[in-house]
Formats: sequence, C-alpha cells, structure tokens
Amino acid sequence: MTQARPVASLPIELAPPDISPWRQGNRGVEFVHVLDSGRPGPNVMVQALTHGNELCGALALVHLFEQGVAPVRGTLTLVFANVDAYARFDPADPHPSRFADEDLNRVWADAVLFGSRDSSELRRARALQPFVDAADLLLDMHSMSEPCRPLMVCGRVDKNARYAVELGVPADLLIDTGQAAGLRMIERGGFGDPASPKRALLIECGQHWEAAAQEVAIDTLMRFLAHTGVVDRGWALARTRRVPPARQQVVRVTEGVVARSMAFEFLVPLVGLSVVQRAGTPIARDGDHTWFAPYDNTVLVMPSLAHLAPGSTVARLGRFEPVQALQRG
Ligand SMILES: [Zn+2]
Repeated sequence: MTQARPVASLPIELAPPDISPWRQGNRGVEFVHVLDSGRPGPNVMVQALTHGNELCGALALVHLFEQGVAPVRGTLTLVFANVDAYARFDPADPHPSRFADEDLNRVWADAVLFGSRDSSELRRARALQPFVDAADLLLDMHSMSEPCRPLMVCGRVDKNARYAVELGVPADLLIDTGQAAGLRMIERGGFGDPASPKRALLIECGQHWEAAAQEVAIDTLMRFLAHTGVVDRGWALARTRRVPPARQQVVRVTEGVVARSMAFEFLVPLVGLSVVQRAGTPIARDGDHTWFAPYDNTVLVMPSLAHLAPGSTVARLGRFEPVQALQRG
C-alpha cells in the first residue's frame, strides 16, 4: 500500500508575483483590464488566480503585460480573479489560500450567481460575470495539488477538446462530468453548450509550485492568443516556451471518487494521469468501503487529499481515447 505523501513536502519553486500594478482596472473593476484593438474580431478573455494559490497563471499574465501585449483584432480581457485569496498566500502553508470563503470555480450557475447568498468569491464572480458572458473565447489558467503532466480541462463538451487539438497543446485533454459542488466558469452559458460557437479551456499547468508550471502557463497562453487571432500570431508564437507534443489524446472521465469521511485514503500512488492496468485493482478506501478500478487501464485524474472533506471529490477515473474519436458539437 502506498500512503499519500504530505503535499506540503513539495518544494515551492515559484514566487508569487507582485500584481499591485494592475489593481486599477480600466472598466471599473479591480484587476480587470480590457484591451480593445478598435477593430472587429473576437472577444477573448484570459483569467489567472481563479484559485488564489495557483501562481503560474499570475506569473504568465504579469509576463504578458510586461511584454507589452496589444491586440490587433477584437478585444482582450485580462483578469486576476481571486485576488483576496491570493493576498493570503503563505509559502509556509500554501493550500488555504486556494479561496477565502468558497471555491470561486463552483459558483457560475445562474441560481448561485444571482441568488441571495453572499461570500467573498460570490462578490468577485458577480463583478466578473459581465466579462465572462461577453467573451467568445476563454482561457482559465490553473495548476494542480499533486504532480501531473499538463492537462487541458475541456469541460463536458467535445467542442472544447477539439479547440485544444487546434491549439496543439497539451498532450492530454480532459473531458469530464462536471463538479458536483457547482458549475465551473468554463461551463457557463454558451461555453458548455455544444451548439454555441463559444469555446472555453482550463489549463492545469502542472503541480502548483513547480517551476515548469510557469513555462507551461506562458506557452499555453501565447499559443491560445495566437490561435484566437486577437494578437499578432508571429508576436505570440515568438514567445512560446515549449515544443508541442507529437500527439494528443483525450482522457474521458466516467466517474468521480467522493470521500465519505476524513478516513479516506488512496491505495495507489498520488500521481495524476497514472494508469491502473487491471480492472478490479483496489484504488482507495474509506472505512469499510473500497473503490476498485472499473476497467482495464483506468486513468487516475487529479487525485489529491489536499482539500479532503466528507463529500469532496478526491479523484476522477477515466479512459484514454484518440482525439479522432471526438464528437462534433
Ligand atoms: Zn485551480
């Protein structure tokens, strides 16, 4: 049996950047900058710090600003999202600053967003909602609690995975079944509708604190901007950092693993996208309940105990598929 390694033992190779120069937005909302080319074109939005302890996206946005990004078509909206949580980031105890009151990436259903409940994250989401809803193309930059190859989270619709195939990065494209705890930003409105031309992607750049996550964030951001056409393609591609993968594959989630109590434990190593070869292999247990691999070559998607709580999704299980199997719409 392999016990979960304490996540706090991972070295922190990235330093949180100073984002205070971008506090004053240009549309009346702090840390929201809308750059308008003055020419027709797509409405493109990029968001960092949906989770306050995921530094790579903030580093990539700061880099983008410092490179003097200027759209040539349409508009480009750049957002540092959960700035209140980010302000609490503490390298000695980096996990609590994921959010202040609740997960900002679970509040995007209308019933929650326009409901009567209040929280630090709901106030922020309500301020960001007009920008999210105006966007045609959205990139949300994240990182993961446990070591894992970069992973593009495409929501529940194949169209977003097809868009990631057009981008050419990363190698692994995740289509999942949503989060029981609430709607994510990349699923909101047209982004989650197969019939809508809108596209949204969530890049998981690697483990939260690894230096490579910053490179993946910058590389993905530049390729995304180049592909949307909102910036000059040559300008963006000259600023990429990595060789694209030779081939891409889809990971299609079939089910989640939901902890029942704080006694939950994994019986396999906590490495994202690792494969359990044989159906029936024990994967995890919680008291007298055991989870088994449901099929041969079960892929373990983002297993983590960093935010373990009764009822929390601690991993998802899926299968690799060729990108050729992606559905239209
Ligand atoms: Zn995240």
